[in-house]
Amino acid sequence: MKPNFYEPMDDIPVAQRDGLGQTGERKGLRGWRRWLLWFFVGLLSAIAGLVVSWLTYQGAETATLPIPFEPMLVSSPGPGASSMVNAESTPSRSSLLGHLAYEEADASELVALTLNEAILMQPEAADRFEAMVTAAAGDGVYLTPISGFRTVSDQQYLFFEIKAERGQTASTRAEVSAPPGYSEHHTGYAIDIGDADQPDTHLSVDFEDTDAFQWLADNAPRYNFELSFPEGNEQGVQYEPWHWRFVGNSESLETFYKDR
Ligand SMILES: [Zn+2]
Repeated sequence: MKPNFYEPMDDIPVAQRDGLGQTGERKGLRGWRRWLLWFFVGLLSAIAGLVVSWLTYQGAETATLPIPFEPMLVSSPGPGASSMVNAESTPSRSSLLGHLAYEEADASELVALTLNEAILMQPEAADRFEAMVTAAAGDGVYLTPISGFRTVSDQQYLFFEIKAERGQTASTRAEVSAPPGYSEHHTGYAIDIGDADQPDTHLSVDFEDTDAFQWLADNAPRYNFELSFPEGNEQGVQYEPWHWRFVGNSESLETFYKDR
């Protein structure tokens, strides 16, 4: 007779089916036990194998994976990676509510305007502005400076205090005023100009109906001044016929046009 543990499948049915004598039953039982023993040994080694491989994986994950894994995270399409891609594909210039960021000029390098010593500008811009004032006066038009260089803290007041006084939202305020750190006035190259004969139009869209505005529209480019926020400007800033900027040297040109 074949040793029954070699063919356990034969053995089980025999033991269960036959109900044979003691010998047969005992033999069947022994085979059954062996089969169970081998089954559990197999099962235990399978479990042990799983446990070992799981532990190995855990160890590997915590101990060795982070090193090769971090560069993968950087290059994988996650939120960090997509913002890196954006930073490369969009201008590096930061903007806020439609206004571009500007560094505050060093006040010690600025000069006071002769017409109003409280107003500071970059030397070349001041020189060209005064030449423009003189030329306009020759034509019977009286340009007056209203605001030139402004510090970030000046702008802090203009933006937040007035916003609060008027109960404006940040975006409504930004249509007419740049947030601190984002004003062309920080550069010392921008100036708000009024018509000395029509002070009621100062800092108002009505300024466009004055002789001063008409004169500037015709002549400002000869002095390297341009309107920063013409009607329908790309930045979406409200039309400001009074706000002009000097673009007559490399520094000012780079200040206003680099990365745009
Ligand atoms: Zn202005």
